[in-house]
Amino acid sequence: MDLDFDQKHVWHPYTSTQAPLPCYPVTHAEGVYLTLEDGRQLVDGMSSWWSTIHGYNHPMLNEAAKSQIDKMAHVMFGGITHQPAVELCRKLVAISPEPLQHVFLADSGSVAVEVSLKMALQYWHARGEQRPKFLTVRHGYHGDTFAAMSVTDPDNSMHSLYKGFLPEHIFADSPQCGFFDEWDESDVDDFRTKLIAHHTELAAVILEPIVQGAGGMRIYHPNFLKRVRELCDEYGVLLIADEIATGFGRTGKLFACEHAGISPDIMCVGKALTGGYMTLSATLTTTHVANTVCGGEAGCFMHGPTFMGNPLACAVANASLDLLANGHWQKQVKQIENQLAEQLPAIGQLPAVKAVRWLGAIGVVELYQPVDMAKIQKTFVDMGVWIRPFGTLVYIMPPFIISQQELRQLTSAIKAAVS
Ligand SMILES: *Cc1c(COP(=O)(O)O)cnc(C)c1O
Repeated sequence: MDLDFDQKHVWHPYTSTQAPLPCYPVTHAEGVYLTLEDGRQLVDGMSSWWSTIHGYNHPMLNEAAKSQIDKMAHVMFGGITHQPAVELCRKLVAISPEPLQHVFLADSGSVAVEVSLKMALQYWHARGEQRPKFLTVRHGYHGDTFAAMSVTDPDNSMHSLYKGFLPEHIFADSPQCGFFDEWDESDVDDFRTKLIAHHTELAAVILEPIVQGAGGMRIYHPNFLKRVRELCDEYGVLLIADEIATGFGRTGKLFACEHAGISPDIMCVGKALTGGYMTLSATLTTTHVANTVCGGEAGCFMHGPTFMGNPLACAVANASLDLLANGHWQKQVKQIENQLAEQLPAIGQLPAVKAVRWLGAIGVVELYQPVDMAKIQKTFVDMGVWIRPFGTLVYIMPPFIISQQELRQLTSAIKAAVS
């Protein structure tokens, strides 16, 4: 592979063209292993940004893509429909919280978030109310497009860079009570205060249920989410659950909202939807929201991506949901959680470590100091694992199929690197 060309001309996520860190060339991937060009095999702790839940090169997912591509790779979704999309939406409605009955397919997580925010805005517009604001909690992450960025944590550089262009929304303190901590009712005070102060101008509350991902890898108490639902009901504000990172079993429930027994008005899914094969996302909502949106001035929902409902992506998503439907993921994720509960506390004792936390197939080691990315990345690769930290956070979200021994390789590598 021409790594020199890569360094000079290929822009990677969040990297500089002037001082690019080296990238590792991967030639193929199988199960939980990534194979580098030089033949080294790495145990994947990232699931390619939390998406490859069934592992790489899965025979059923491959077969779904192959058989669909011989029928049609793509067809427009305006005025045309097809079996893979209909089947996928049927499955999504069946497994989602009961009130969510309408599915809007989109092309990436960020777009699913844009769609959810637009739905909420159109909902209030149709009701003749001016509600231009969103309320969220700090340390959230909802994507890199503009509206998604505007509800992402304001203390990373994204907000200051685009100030003046980015809409300004309302941020409440993030939940402090951890998932396994004793619940403290005051945790929701700031959220309640801000909701009460602003509810007449709020279109919706948007947050990641139970686990805040890229905004800080924080795992919070289900009662926080319960209170948020109750307060949204009490003050007549829509609730958007961004399940893009948490959906499809990652937290030990199919959707993280289930930990709190709540149902949102709008729900975004993405990442693991196709088992990490292709980009696809969906925004689901209730009949009440959908009908209100479509009963408004526009008479429809104003969105329609070119590659909406891409048949190839839908076919793979169907195969991925079929794999989830066999239920093995529950045992696998529980097994991962148990092992993390056993192995992470020892890492928590190391002097460089501020905290460790885990839930389902998510393990987080928070350090006092940000990591030296190039150095730690090389250390991990030399130890035969693929773990990509950010800032002070070294975390793993492995494919659900990982074995106990492979997971131990990941936790041992973290322990050694952090030591
Ligand atoms: C990754 C992520 C997104 C954005 O998804 P993309 O596919 O990267 O656009 C949005 N919300 C959450 C919670 C995410 O983890």
